[in-house]
Amino acid sequence: MSNEHYPVVILGAGVTGLTLAHHLNKRGANFKVLEKLERHGGVVNTQSEKGFVFESGPNSGIISHPEVVALFDDLGDAIKIEKGNDLVKIRYVLKNGEWHALPHSPLSAISTPLFTLKDKFRILGEPFRKKGNNPDETLAELVKRRMGNSFLDYAIDPFILGIYAGDPAQLVTRHAMPKLYNLEQKYGSFIGGARKKAKEPKSELEKRTDRAVFSIEGGLSGLTNALLKSADEKHFDFACANITVEKQEAGFKVSYELGDEMNVIYCDKLVTTFGSVGLKDTLPFIATKEMQHLTNLKYARVVEVSLGFDQWEGRELDGFGGLIPHKEKRDLLGVLFMSSLFKNRAPKGGALLTIFMGGIRNEHLCDLNDKDLIKVLEREFKDLMKVSDYNPSLVKIKRYSHAIPQYGVNSNERFETIDAVQEQYPGLIIAGNLRDGIGMADRIKQASIIANKLSS
Ligand SMILES: Cc1cc2nc3c(=O)[nH]c(=O)nc-3n(C[C@H](O)[C@H](O)[C@H](O)COP(=O)(O)OP(=O)(O)OC[C@H]3O[C@@H](n4cnc5c(N)ncnc54)[C@H](O)[C@@H]3O)c2cc1C
Repeated sequence: MSNEHYPVVILGAGVTGLTLAHHLNKRGANFKVLEKLERHGGVVNTQSEKGFVFESGPNSGIISHPEVVALFDDLGDAIKIEKGNDLVKIRYVLKNGEWHALPHSPLSAISTPLFTLKDKFRILGEPFRKKGNNPDETLAELVKRRMGNSFLDYAIDPFILGIYAGDPAQLVTRHAMPKLYNLEQKYGSFIGGARKKAKEPKSELEKRTDRAVFSIEGGLSGLTNALLKSADEKHFDFACANITVEKQEAGFKVSYELGDEMNVIYCDKLVTTFGSVGLKDTLPFIATKEMQHLTNLKYARVVEVSLGFDQWEGRELDGFGGLIPHKEKRDLLGVLFMSSLFKNRAPKGGALLTIFMGGIRNEHLCDLNDKDLIKVLEREFKDLMKVSDYNPSLVKIKRYSHAIPQYGVNSNERFETIDAVQEQYPGLIIAGNLRDGIGMADRIKQASIIANKLSS
């Protein structure tokens, strides 16, 4: 029983909680982080076995916000950032059972078999098309309207599978892809808008926000380890069970079990960083209707499999990986060629690949037991990766029942409820991936903004 008082308590020690803790510690603030698990990092978890270094959560991030650059600057020599090599630009998409590289130049866009001739001509008119006026337009509707069906099926659909394990027909553009939405709304076109945006004046940090694909040498846990160290482990309690928050006249009382002990601490500000799952039990003082709005969020279920081969004899791994559009009716979402992108992920001559299965439109695959799952994987993998002798020496399966939140039509209701609840209970900050984006870079940005607010 501690009864201590902290200005800030953070719930969760994933990328969001760790980044916030790092910033607060840097500013000399006093705070406490309570984490449910015995380890930090959340879904970020690099492991090593049999000469392979593999991820069981995210595989890489994108330097897509200046806050990421600033965080890397802060961490300095504590992390060795590894940007993906030139192969990251080559991304394969499956069409009629064959892999085709997504075009990344006007010439390759003309010759690619991924898009129909009609849509290739149609794209020339994209800058002149009227902008949409439905703020809740789905990504599928937007892309069909501006670019055509084949772009939706063979560019956006696999892209969305790669990021959201989702369905473009269920994601609302302004919430799921706000940058794309803003290009159309602000500049009237994706193509023209991207060009104009590139010419706008930028701060030094913005100039260094190069959208590079990154990992850390030795894997992404290098980042979360460095964050824990710079945030100072003394601020953290791990393996906290049954964390419950009560509203006080001013601030909050937080009760939790730590080993055999019941702990109670008090705080002025309380930040949740673990998304919508578990909010109801943790914040029981929030009214039922508001809690329903906060937690009415569908998460894609995903199975992630790391496959390691001592000797690779399949198709050439000359790219970032391959994505498989839903139209192709296959049982894999995509394959990442991890050992081609980053150093020391597999023994020499071998290969490490990450395979994703399931997702919003193929959730039934997540229900298969390991044996049946591996059977499906083997059938698909051998065919798609041209492997005649399937003998991986590493097979690691990780299942996520709540992998990626889907920002669908009810997003606005959720965001408005977050604002209302935070106003009703001053000092409460509901953060995490139920708002502000789903990627690691989005989490870093959100935590950095919250740190600024808490310190002002
Ligand atoms: C399979 C998968 C692949 C992904 N791939 C990519 C990718 O390639 N690139 C990319 O940028 N992003 C990717 N992401 C998304 C990215 O990993 C996440 O955005 C980010 O890591 C989430 O960090 P977080 O701290 O917000 O949440 P989490 O990592 O979920 O951390 C939340 C923490 O809170 C703890 N917790 C839960 N409940 C409580 C409670 N009641 N009290 C206290 N603590 C609690 C949890 O144990 C956890 O440690 C992927 C995610 C998944 C699942």
